[in-house]
Amino acid sequence: MDCLFCKIVIGSIPAEIVKKSDRVTAFKDISPQAPIHVLVIPNQHFENMAKVAEFDLALVGEIFDMASSVAKDFGIDSYRTNINTGESAGQSVFHAHLHLLGGRTFAWPPG
Ligand code: AMP
Ligand code: ZN
Repeated sequence: MDCLFCKIVIGSIPAEIVKKSDRVTAFKDISPQAPIHVLVIPNQHFENMAKVAEFDLALVGEIFDMASSVAKDFGIDSYRTNINTGESAGQSVFHAHLHLLGGRTFAWPPG
């Protein structure tokens, strides 16, 4: 399948991997929007996080668990987690991913 993040999982496209399990991978976003900006993705391809929840609910938990573990590794206990589902919500890569952003303050509501 011609999917950027699937290629990162198998290592055919380079990425700065920060943590990996047999089911989840965390790597640095190529265009960071905060001092810490990590993407947490399922190793298996799903189009978005709703599909992950539909087919493998436990995997959603593993993704969040990986995000909090990465935040802990970076030494932050205040951070933003963000999931864009669909184009109008800002999703541009259609392999499910959670954004972990930290190292600065964030505004609310988001734009
Ligand atoms: P979204 O807009 O929510 O789909 O997020 C996709 C994210 O993937 C964006 O923040 C991009 O900067 C990031 N991204 C795109 N290509 C790469 C890449 N090759 N390595 C790491 N992050 C990437
Ligand atoms: Zn994929």
